[in-house]
Amino acid sequence: MKKNLKRIAIVAMVAVVIAACKKNQETLTSEPQETVKNTDKVLQHIKNLGFPESSIVDNGNEYVVEEDIIFPKNMEIPANTGLKTEQYYTGSIVNATKKLNIRIFVDASMTSMSSEINSAIAQWNAVPNSTLRFSVVRTAPYDILIKNENLGNGVCGQGQFPSGGSAGALVKINKNYIAGNSFAQRARTICHEFGHCISFRHTNWAAQGESTATNVPGVTGTDALSLMNGGQCGSGATVLSQKDKNATAVLY
Ligand SMILES: [Zn+2]
Repeated sequence: MKKNLKRIAIVAMVAVVIAACKKNQETLTSEPQETVKNTDKVLQHIKNLGFPESSIVDNGNEYVVEEDIIFPKNMEIPANTGLKTEQYYTGSIVNATKKLNIRIFVDASMTSMSSEINSAIAQWNAVPNSTLRFSVVRTAPYDILIKNENLGNGVCGQGQFPSGGSAGALVKINKNYIAGNSFAQRARTICHEFGHCISFRHTNWAAQGESTATNVPGVTGTDALSLMNGGQCGSGATVLSQKDKNATAVLY
């Protein structure tokens, strides 16, 4: 009897899951209320990544977590592959085609830091055993827009995680705020945000009190030298550490 009840419960649960999937499919294809519904889905997606609700800040058209990671409310929710656990990443990486040439468009507001942007790009492009490549393009189409925005005191920049196989589409740099930093630190900020665009979480997430991140397979633990450590605006590592490079090579 007990066994039967259990079986019924499982069947009921499966039915609910199937219904939920269907509902998702419907909302994906319907147009008008999409914005509202998608906002809910984005919120759920952020929670599914392990970020607690208390860490999510509603900032108009986007959610911001851990100060420098942006989730647009109209973003495409990455398909749940359930396979990739990711030095620390999100589980959703730039796909095998797009990683070969991630096109960056430099908004007019950021052209004064073109040298810093090129320096950041050169670091990612020089990682051994990685086919990941960034380039600057002068016209659309592009994958990442980098622009200046006043993000207030204490935040050097913000970036987005990949979505749908594409690199995170937006990097915001608090240009006036970092203007007084050294060239190397300005380039670090940009290099760090590009790191979010290709899926890296903060290596020091635990010390920062951030939500649990998953390891890039084989590249585990803390790393004081990681350029992807968070909360180090103007003071962090300015070159990718050996572990940063190893993690990049694993993912890309
Ligand atoms: Zn960051």
